[in-house]
Amino acid sequence: MNQQYFFKKCPACGYTVAKMIFDAGTKPLATIVWAESESEAKEVQSFKQEYIQCLNCAHVWNYLYDWEHVPYSYKSNKMYNNGSQWKKHIDYLKKWLFDKIPSKPVVVDIGCGDASFLTSMAKDYQSKGKFIGFDPSGDVDPKQKGIIFNRSLFLPLEDTAKYKPDLIVMRHVIEHLTAPSSFLHSLAWGASQYEKPTYLYCEVPCIDRVFKTGRLADFYYEHPSQFTTSSFTRMLNSAGNVIDIMHAYDGEIICGLVELNPSLEQTKISKNADCFCHSTSTSIHNIKQELKDLISQKKPIAIWGGTGKCASFMHHYHISCDDIPLVIDSDKRKWGTFVPGIGQEIRSPSFLMKNPIHTLIVPTQWRTQDILIEANSMGLDFKLVLIEHEGRLIDFMTQKHPYDKSKL
Ligand SMILES: [Zn+2]
Repeated sequence: MNQQYFFKKCPACGYTVAKMIFDAGTKPLATIVWAESESEAKEVQSFKQEYIQCLNCAHVWNYLYDWEHVPYSYKSNKMYNNGSQWKKHIDYLKKWLFDKIPSKPVVVDIGCGDASFLTSMAKDYQSKGKFIGFDPSGDVDPKQKGIIFNRSLFLPLEDTAKYKPDLIVMRHVIEHLTAPSSFLHSLAWGASQYEKPTYLYCEVPCIDRVFKTGRLADFYYEHPSQFTTSSFTRMLNSAGNVIDIMHAYDGEIICGLVELNPSLEQTKISKNADCFCHSTSTSIHNIKQELKDLISQKKPIAIWGGTGKCASFMHHYHISCDDIPLVIDSDKRKWGTFVPGIGQEIRSPSFLMKNPIHTLIVPTQWRTQDILIEANSMGLDFKLVLIEHEGRLIDFMTQKHPYDKSKL
């Protein structure tokens, strides 16, 4: 029994432990190259394929896949849309979508191929609305007028915000992507930048039956990601509110409609990240100025702590050996060593007995009480003890902060 684990990031859910399900060996490309002769067919490039399965969401992917190997830019990915089952499925699908989008929709079809689906949608809407297709290797009739065709990749974050679609269609596209969930998450953040719902309709082959039948024909290079019902459902749920997920074509296809949206939690994190990021430059500006004023007063200053967060404090606020030459540390293993990146010698607290200081700065704020207890036990006294708090240097003893000082 093969017990080998693969520590690879799942493209659908991000989990990092997987197991081999099929070592397919080195096989030719199977769908993107439509050879014009026997010899051309025999020369189709081959690539190594090892399919592994995520132990969290059951997604299957070829972790050796490289997008650069597939000649998308000059060969169209032809999709067969004319079989009677397919037609039934597409008619059903259009009805399903019809209820959910406005009467004059903006529809974007990513990886539209020959744009037959988008064109027929535009016809159904009598060209009321906008129908925009993207495909770097699209095979669209240049004479058609029903849709706008862009021979380019769709940038999920930027272009969603730019076109503000009511509906994004991705039919048989995401199984070709190296990072499908990242793509969907970027669409969701793009859609979060304007005030109207954007639905994503996704359709991919479903490999649930591979496990019931043992068939191997599903595995070929151009489909690096192979969705199970579980992995597709989980991935869609991570991109917004799932409206519906259904199987089609006798279970061989899985389709889903999701209202793209980062969750409330994610939105809150995003807003807080913006606020924090903005505050960092203000904090650096303010504290540098406060340190400059303090140094100009020429009262002796020391920093307690010489490595890790204490060194980082000195780095962020650009403190040099000349600005504050005196650095103390409680840890005797550090005495006689030097502050990384700056160069002050780190000294023992007893150094302060012969060289008293006026102001002590403690970058490890949560340790300040312990440090002051240690200093007091040695008879050391400081006129001012400063910590960094909310973009300012504040007095630990008199000003408000969350750290314990009850034992002082
Ligand atoms: Zn997974």
